[in-house]
Amino acid sequence: MAANWQRGVLKAMGVKNHAVEVVGITDFTPWYRRVRLSAPGFLDELALHPTIWVRLWVPSLSSDKVVQRGYTIVDPDPAAGEFSLDFVLHEPVGPAASWAKHATIGLRAEVAHTPQKLSIDAESDTLVLAGDVTALPAITTILGAAPEGATKHVVIQDTHDDHDKLPLAVDARTTVSWAEPDDTGSGIVDLLAASLIETLDAERSYLWSAGERKLVKAVREHARGPLALPRHRQHTQYYWIFGHDAG
Ligand SMILES: Cc1cc2nc3c(=O)[nH]c(=O)nc-3n(C[C@H](O)[C@H](O)[C@H](O)COP(=O)(O)OP(=O)(O)OC[C@H]3O[C@@H](n4cnc5c(N)ncnc54)[C@H](O)[C@@H]3O)c2cc1C
Repeated sequence: MAANWQRGVLKAMGVKNHAVEVVGITDFTPWYRRVRLSAPGFLDELALHPTIWVRLWVPSLSSDKVVQRGYTIVDPDPAAGEFSLDFVLHEPVGPAASWAKHATIGLRAEVAHTPQKLSIDAESDTLVLAGDVTALPAITTILGAAPEGATKHVVIQDTHDDHDKLPLAVDARTTVSWAEPDDTGSGIVDLLAASLIETLDAERSYLWSAGERKLVKAVREHARGPLALPRHRQHTQYYWIFGHDAG
């Protein structure tokens, strides 16, 4: 496979690529697939933390080059040299969703990691985690590392009706709400506003949001406006943009 310009830039930045091989495939729903990867040594080089993600290099659908897409590490097992990536098998399909859809045991690819550490104040007593289903893997990693005793509000925007099959383990301190999709992200903000979240203590809460750009923008405005959360108590990140491939 030929290299694209991103690969050259990342190489120049010292970002190393690492071979991975598919060793397991689990379909939670027809549209949400977990791919287990073997990558001996790769995890040893990383400081594992919630929301940690990799660039997955997969064949382009329109040229002989490889392209990179971001995916969140779930279920890492450094001793076994394995981790998983959860894929939303979306339409219109892109190279990464297509790669995952057609993955078989033994299929190989490459991943690269660029450090971007999330730090959530251990004193936070309320976490607000908002996004679409591409953020679900990261949300599960935050839930797994949440400060003990914290209340967690998870709000996700999605169209499907089989959410009970998704890998989202919640405890008694976690509420999960599902918002209907819309073009502006207003549905998810309405859900945030309608819940008790309006009464949260801005100095002891943390908001994290990721997903489609407009959704994240709406949540960010809500966090900075009505919720009045200080900058260090929020992290919002676009994961993808409706109508645009990821480059
Ligand atoms: C840090 C980071 C972590 C991420 N973690 C995950 C993860 O764990 N799991 C995951 O599934 N995604 C994750 N994403 C999002 C994923 O990288 C994007 O959805 C990406 O665009 C998918 O690439 P693709 O090649 O399948 O589609 P692309 O070629 O990028 O896009 C093709 C078309 O599909 C549309 N599209 C892209 N994604 C979606 C979607 N989810 N739903 C509907 N339409 C879409 C685009 O707008 C475009 O029109 C993450 C992104 C980042 C930046």
